[in-house]
Amino acid sequence: MKASNNFFRLETRLQSQAGKAIHDFNMIEDGDRILVCMSGGKDSYTMLSVLLALQKRAPVKFGIIAMNLDQKHPGFPEDVLPRYFESIGVEYRIVEADTHSIVKEKVPEGKTTCSLCSRLRRGVIYRTAKELGANKIALGHHRDDIVETFFLNLFFGGKMKAMPPKLATDDGAHVVIRPLAYCKESDIATYARAMEYPIIPCDLCGSQENLQRKKVKDMLHQWERETPGRVDNVFRALADVVPSHLMDTNLFDFRGLATGLAKVDEASLFGDSSYEQAALVFSHSSENRIEFIRPSERRPLVSGA
Ligand code: SF4
Repeated sequence: MKASNNFFRLETRLQSQAGKAIHDFNMIEDGDRILVCMSGGKDSYTMLSVLLALQKRAPVKFGIIAMNLDQKHPGFPEDVLPRYFESIGVEYRIVEADTHSIVKEKVPEGKTTCSLCSRLRRGVIYRTAKELGANKIALGHHRDDIVETFFLNLFFGGKMKAMPPKLATDDGAHVVIRPLAYCKESDIATYARAMEYPIIPCDLCGSQENLQRKKVKDMLHQWERETPGRVDNVFRALADVVPSHLMDTNLFDFRGLATGLAKVDEASLFGDSSYEQAALVFSHSSENRIEFIRPSERRPLVSGA
């Protein structure tokens, strides 16, 4: 597969999607030193390969250092990642921190361990970035992680928020980037299989997969089977938000809206299910009547007192 045209197309697609995300969100700048977080899963291996390829031809100079946090999960194969890093000649650091014992000790049996585990892991990653002089931290989350997080927050948190492609850490010391934000999980999985990465299983911690996330993942898979392209649409919508058609008064000044010239869309005015995107302008006519005018036609469509 690695020598085939399909593989070449897939690799090109992943690199160009990552390149576009990096450009759109200004993720990487000249002189950056990027700590690339490696769990040993398909996403992190793919991210490292893509970043190394982009590094060779990027117009800016940036450094890469791969990092793995050995959390002392039972059965963790500690020689796999160092061997891989050495085989590809990338600078790396393995950090050992027994977060597993802390989580086992602090979290009661049967309760989910992921939130404390991720907090501890985040702390170690930030400290390591500081020690190694890395100003950026790269994580391997992809398009499907972002859409799943959006629905998790929507269904269980009552919030419209997903997973940002770029964010500053609370202390402002680092910027976290997600270069695979535009890449599909299925593409990453196919690429990782073709690359024959030495994958480390993700269930060594003994924690059950987050049940709610699994349900959302299953829901998205079913949608995609029934209506191909729907997940892409949801993903596109995350980058095309219309605050005036939502209800967050912090994002749009509804109270300040007054009569006069304003742009609206026909679908939202009349509940048109065809979602025709014709923008209308409504204004007061000389006879003090409200007129709805299609901008291209400049003649009243509907009018009323
Ligand atoms: S799945 Fe395991 S390693 Fe991952 S965050 Fe949860 S407890 Fe930690």
